[in-house]
Amino acid sequence: MLVFVLNAGSSSLKYQLINAETSELKASGLVERIGIDGILKHEVGENKKLTFELQIPTHKEAIELVLRILTNDETKVINSISEIEAIGHRVVHGGEYFKKSTLINKDVMDKIRKLIPLAPLHNPAHVLGIEICNELMPNIPNVATFDTAFHQTMPEENFLYAVPYGDYTEHHLRKYGFHGTSHYYVSNEAIKILNKKTSKIIVCHLGNGSSICAVKDGKSISTTMGLTPLEGLIMGTRSGDIDAGVIPYLMERKGLDSNQIINYLNKKSGILGISGISSDLREVIKASNDGDKRSKIAIEMLCGRIKKYLCSYAGLMQGVDAICFTAGIGENSDLIREKVCEGLGFMGIELDTEKNKIRTHGTREIHNESSKTKIFVIPTNEELVIAKDTYNLVKSK
Ligand code: ADP
Repeated sequence: MLVFVLNAGSSSLKYQLINAETSELKASGLVERIGIDGILKHEVGENKKLTFELQIPTHKEAIELVLRILTNDETKVINSISEIEAIGHRVVHGGEYFKKSTLINKDVMDKIRKLIPLAPLHNPAHVLGIEICNELMPNIPNVATFDTAFHQTMPEENFLYAVPYGDYTEHHLRKYGFHGTSHYYVSNEAIKILNKKTSKIIVCHLGNGSSICAVKDGKSISTTMGLTPLEGLIMGTRSGDIDAGVIPYLMERKGLDSNQIINYLNKKSGILGISGISSDLREVIKASNDGDKRSKIAIEMLCGRIKKYLCSYAGLMQGVDAICFTAGIGENSDLIREKVCEGLGFMGIELDTEKNKIRTHGTREIHNESSKTKIFVIPTNEELVIAKDTYNLVKSK
């Protein structure tokens, strides 16, 4: 079954065409700057990469363009749109409504809309993406896969904030957690390798946005992101954990309103804010190697925060069988992995620094022989989870 996987953002759109039975990736791409000017980067297989710069005023035109490219003579991977049998949508917020992926109907759409106050930047774009697919491919079933769903197994003591309980029941104030599809995929891959009935796994999803998840027996029991993706680790431009008292203090001192302070914490902070160089860790590592002090401290802070959560999750689960690193930084930066694992031998976590440096594609083990805890690098694949969930739901419809 050919599944079109769509991740619609406010001015961008990521897509993949996947054979869900064989896991074969037929084509993938990214449309950016929708409504500004427009750029489409399209990939077929490993080698064929195409870039188109043209006016893309709306999401509808973006999706039409992608469908044309998939069927056009020069870039063709399918003969006709009718070969697409289902569409899988990535949806950021499923609130407490959705504990797993679901076929989309009117009720599901209403609930995704109801959750807009919890994900004001993301859920409206997803609704738009689904509506356009309904219009352009009217008889094809649509499935939603939620970033929050995997974390719905967290126990109350791990998702509540210590504020008056009524604000949870009345205003849905709680930790939801994000990156759930990635945490699910990576922990599941680790479980296959461990081949044990019970397991304690910590997944470190370290990209531009980053989060850690404690996965016990295949279920998320705690994660670092919260009501919004701002909580937890230090990220590219997000502060992560911060004393709530900082907010009124800075609002008063700098004359900021609530939008401006959230923008400050989401877009101007994190690695970018500390280093003053970039949100891209590669540039910050380079600057640190060249002697830049603020870049060096940014790296120390980033790794210190990861280590703090790693150790607290090991404590929470009373042990850890495997630590998994994934996403842009987790998969590619031996420096960050080494710093995070440094000094944790007392907990049975021992990295093999040579194996850690080897750069290859795919899943690999980077612990040494005496390490009680296994350490893996596992490339994430959220789109494959969406394609498989879509296939399973549509097949059993
Ligand atoms: P997103 O959250 O946008 O999906 P990614 O998972 O693609 O982000 O991760 C992007 C981050 O990965 C950037 O900060 C980038 O600098 C970092 N990164 C990619 N390759 C390396 C590398 N070799 N060393 C250090 N950081 C890297």
